[in-house]
Amino acid sequence: MKALKFGGSSVSSPERIRSVAKIILSAAKKEQVIVVVSAFQGVTNQLIECARMAEKGDQSYFSVYNKIAQRHTDTLHQLCAKRLTKSDRAIVQKNLVELQKILQGINLLRHCPPRALDVVASFGERLSAFIISLYLNLKQPSQFVDTRGLIITDDNFTQAAVMFDQTTTALQKYFKRLFAENSKKLIPVVTGFIGATEDGRTTTIGRNGSDYSVAIIGAALGVSIIEIWTDVDGILSADPSIVPSAFVLPNISYEEAMELSYFGAKVLHSAAIAPAVAKKIPVLIKNTLNPSAAGTLVSDRVNDWKAVAKGITSIDGVTLFTLRGLSMVGVPGMAERLFSALADHHVNVILISQASSEHTICFAVTGSNAAQVRRAVAHEF
Ligand code: ADP
Ligand code: ASP
Ligand code: MG
Repeated sequence: MKALKFGGSSVSSPERIRSVAKIILSAAKKEQVIVVVSAFQGVTNQLIECARMAEKGDQSYFSVYNKIAQRHTDTLHQLCAKRLTKSDRAIVQKNLVELQKILQGINLLRHCPPRALDVVASFGERLSAFIISLYLNLKQPSQFVDTRGLIITDDNFTQAAVMFDQTTTALQKYFKRLFAENSKKLIPVVTGFIGATEDGRTTTIGRNGSDYSVAIIGAALGVSIIEIWTDVDGILSADPSIVPSAFVLPNISYEEAMELSYFGAKVLHSAAIAPAVAKKIPVLIKNTLNPSAAGTLVSDRVNDWKAVAKGITSIDGVTLFTLRGLSMVGVPGMAERLFSALADHHVNVILISQASSEHTICFAVTGSNAAQVRRAVAHEF
């Protein structure tokens, strides 16, 4: 069994969804497949923007909502055309009406807590998986699967942590039954990115989280390989939008992939492969626009490539601080005072360096933490 994930870039338009379907059907000829999809490209951003506008009382949220609704109904009609049934159309419509009501509620209350934001964001994957499953169903039996109720998380909305024991049990039970009750040919199309708390409240597992979803599902079901289909030929030695000469890495180890993704290679969510690593499931990154390219294989195989560095990554929006003073030289405990003060103010430090003369300590934080750093340092020193 194989798990395939198609990111927003692969499901950006009806044409792209048709190419995705070809890839899925060709894989399904050889073995049982499970498909995980993201929202159509850009939709999660639009949903979040829409909720924020509604919260601020900006009535033009409604025109953003209309664009989202129109894009989904257009895609549905273009893909399924005359073979679309009334009840399927009604399901899409019901989702869109529900979304509209939630946005209206946010607008009336002028309040959008993270919990409401997650419900709004969840419509991206719910609609995309449903529409793609309808389209596949015209060619081979397919089943839409909503991961709320299967991926069980805590209630840290927008960044919910997965509760692995409950999730694994729920996934195994659900898919065992689904495959037992249907023909081997059934293709499940599963929502990425979303889950729910034990008591059924909708959550999301962090931006770009569909990579993580497919790894969680692949690991729970013990698939032989996880394929992540995107819009580049694999993991490149650097972000191709910044470094045009970046080249594809044919294979890298799990640790290298985790380092690269943690430090900004958006092609793979940084936590994504952890569940695959635990089960030693290889992860193949492939290009929907160029399916014949070999891609990048991420596995536990240590390769003998002698290059000094395999990749370079960068992250934006970082603030660098320098704490400087002659009175710091040779005084024990200065670093401890600084970092304890930062920890007390809930600041996460992402890089630290100290001059050998000890008269400066330099550290980096994400930009949003900068004000807290000033407060912490002013208070402590
Ligand atoms: P998807 O919609 O398929 O999830 P993403 O936009 O999340 O795709 O990730 C793919 C993008 O990641 C690429 O289009 C590329 O611009 C960017 N990227 C950044 N760093 C790298 C890298 N080192 N290798 C490959 N892609 C990278
Ligand atoms: N649609 C979600 C996002 O844009 C999840 C994903 O694309 O992986 O963050
Ligand atoms: Mg992605």
